This record gives sequence, C-alpha cells and structure tokens, in this order.
Amino acid sequence: MPEFRVEFYAFANINNTIRLREEVLHVRISDLLEGSPENVMEALAHILLAKIYRKPIQPLHATRYRRYVSSHAMTAKAHLLRQVRGRKRIDSARGQVYDLDEIFEQLNRQFFYGLLARPQMTWSRSHARNSLAHYDPAHNAIVVSRVFDHARVPRCAVEYIVYHEMLHLKHPVKLRGSRRCVHGPEFQAEEKLFPQLEEAKLFLKRL
Ligand SMILES: [Zn+2]
Repeated sequence: MPEFRVEFYAFANINNTIRLREEVLHVRISDLLEGSPENVMEALAHILLAKIYRKPIQPLHATRYRRYVSSHAMTAKAHLLRQVRGRKRIDSARGQVYDLDEIFEQLNRQFFYGLLARPQMTWSRSHARNSLAHYDPAHNAIVVSRVFDHARVPRCAVEYIVYHEMLHLKHPVKLRGSRRCVHGPEFQAEEKLFPQLEEAKLFLKRL
C-alpha cells in the first residue's frame, strides 16, 4: 500500500483530486467538505480510490456523495465561496506593523493551549472602520480591518480584536429558539479573561 498524504484544499469549487507520484498518493479534498459526515467522507474515499485504480464505483457510494454535495446547503456555500473568492484577494497576514499569524499563535498558546487550528489570517484591503474584524466561515478566514495595522494602534487592541474572533472560532453560532446567539454567556465569560480588555475597548471606542 502506498503512503497517503491527504489534505483539505481551497478549491474554487467543490473538487477533489487524487494523484500517485513516486509511490505516494496525494489526495486533496475541497475544504468545503471539512466537517462533513463520516459516511460522506467514506464514500468520497471509495470514489477517489476507484478512480485512481480504475475500479468500478459502487452505486451506494456514488449516490451518497452526490446527494450530499448537491444538497441545498452545499450548493449555496459553494456558490458563495466562488463569489467571494472571485472578488476578494486573500492578502497577507503580515501588515506594516503587525503580523496576524504571529498574534494568532501567541494568543493560541496563551488562551487555548495551542489547540485552535489557524484559519487564513488577513488584513482587509480597505481601511473600513465600520467592521473591525470578522470570521468568515466560508473561507475559514479571520479578516481584520487594515485601520489597525498602524503604529498608533496599541498591540493590545489588535490582540483583543483577534482574540474576539478566535472565540467565534471556538464557539460556533448556535441557534437558540429562532434567535441566533452570537455572543453567548460562555463566549462573554471567556472574553473577560483577556487581561487588557478595558484598555483595548477604550481605545476602540475612541477610534
Ligand atoms: Zn463577535
């Protein structure tokens, strides 16, 4: 059996590839399928292996995979992603003053035992003030307004903004009744653990 290297990959569409190179099987799975049910992943593994070894695909697996991918949610997500990826160039995490990757990793060690997988960290293209930052689940990206990549902005303010978005990563939006609960009690309690919370909030208020 060859060695396997399997990774999620940001294709523009739902796409999966398998290649055999120097006795290593390289598998790339669309990041849109991250978190999909195990039987869907199993079906996909079957399809990819059948493809590379030129074996027939069992109808059960073909149906299961196709049904999942063509379900409404996945189609909508893929569509959204195409739009956004087409429009938005993912810029670098490294700004003029602050490096978002470095800030993420520091906070990850400080507050999350290094357990959070780092999403794409990026400074926004514009200097918009109306949105400080947001976590974008469609691309798994944290986007921070470029306004904050400035020497006059204290590091604690940038750290607080990133920390807040990291809490969104840790606490995905839950439905409570019909209301979306974005900053639930656990979220708020954890946010208070940030040592320079007052200082950071005061700075953002003044901005
Ligand atoms: Zn928030």
